[in-house]
Amino acid sequence: MKPNSLILLLVLSLIPAMAQASALLFKSEKKEEITFVSQMIYRGGALTAKNARDSTLEMTSLWNESRGSVRYRGRLYKAKFIFSYVMDPYQRYVDSGSCAENHVKIENPVKEGDRSFYRLAGRFGTFFTTDDLGRSTTTAHEYGHGLGLDHDDYDQVTTAVPGIMFARGTLVRPEYQWNPFAVAGAPGGSIKPHHRRVRVIDLLKLNLESVNFAGGVGCLGEGIAKTVALANVVKPVPVKPSSQTLHENFYSPDVNEERESEAYDH
Ligand SMILES: [Zn+2]
Repeated sequence: MKPNSLILLLVLSLIPAMAQASALLFKSEKKEEITFVSQMIYRGGALTAKNARDSTLEMTSLWNESRGSVRYRGRLYKAKFIFSYVMDPYQRYVDSGSCAENHVKIENPVKEGDRSFYRLAGRFGTFFTTDDLGRSTTTAHEYGHGLGLDHDDYDQVTTAVPGIMFARGTLVRPEYQWNPFAVAGAPGGSIKPHHRRVRVIDLLKLNLESVNFAGGVGCLGEGIAKTVALANVVKPVPVKPSSQTLHENFYSPDVNEERESEAYDH
């Protein structure tokens, strides 16, 4: 074997360790249900007990809200999402390589326009405090990227409820804009992310076809199907209807309005 192919082989063998997954899946044929288990491990200079809990609560509430189903090899399974979290400011948490483990840094932005992000179909991300963590649906949106979902790219203006994978800057119906009176595309005339929801159709977009279940346990992606001891499991709470968020902010334009509408991603 040439040295070059040896290096290539080494690099390729490292890819599974990079863990392309963000949920450990448990499939029950009897209950016709697939449970997604994710343990969030939070670090970063802006980490607080509140933003760690709020972020996790937002993800679990939104992803469980529709009570919809996922598709797997021609069958529908009820989808259930369990989230737990660990605060690890000193980076002492030892990564087991399990696809349940998601590593997220919570930071203050370094520069204007910094936006939260997540590796697509991965389990590493950064949440910025300026994204109104726990209220703006940003954390649930980023987690969606971790599950392999990209931004929606079909006609979004006529959609009844904005989907969780709508990017910031997306043009939507006036009632879902930062400012309902703004002209579409003008400052304030794009989606206020707080209105996004995980809809039944969003769950159906999850692609589980590559998952191999052994004894009912599988990984979304290429992570290691290994169970982890969950700490701080968060129970979902009912999500505030989108219209209420609208009225709450109807006459008080957000100070970040202009900057938000200009940012494209997340
Ligand atoms: Zn995004």
